[in-house]
Amino acid sequence: MGANAAPLDKLIEQFAKLNGIGRKSAARLAYQVLAMDHANALDFADAIRDAHEKIHRCAVCQNFTEQEVCAICSSAGRDDTTICVVENPRDVTAFEHTREYKGLYHVLHGLISPMEGIGAEQLCIKELLARLNDGVVQEVIMATNPTVEGEATAMYLARLIKPLGVRPTRLA
Ligand code: ZN
Repeated sequence: MGANAAPLDKLIEQFAKLNGIGRKSAARLAYQVLAMDHANALDFADAIRDAHEKIHRCAVCQNFTEQEVCAICSSAGRDDTTICVVENPRDVTAFEHTREYKGLYHVLHGLISPMEGIGAEQLCIKELLARLNDGVVQEVIMATNPTVEGEATAMYLARLIKPLGVRPTRLA
């Protein structure tokens, strides 16, 4: 510390906040940003600001969207009797690439993980349960990863869902 200009250290610190980016990688990325011409660097900063200001969670499925309700939830062509539960928005993208699934989704934004201090109340579970009240949904497919956390979360949800008259199924 002290060898770098303060704004450079600050930029390195921001990159180092990202998951999987260590101090060395953060420094490498910060130097790349400094090497950009000014207009490109501002485009980069604007893209971060824009994404954060315009994208929020869908009021129904909690996936990221620019609208109040996302394109999948508001589509008339989807099977609204089936909800596929996934850990994060990236999983929805992966499922959509297969083009075989025609139902709806629900994004938990995490998995239950006692090791990391993440409990059920930190996930979008009450938003899922609220969607099962009107008798339309028949099946909830648990598509969390087959890890310890993924299995524990799927089992926890199945216990909550069964009494509501909805069939929980497991996708590995
Ligand atoms: Zn949605």
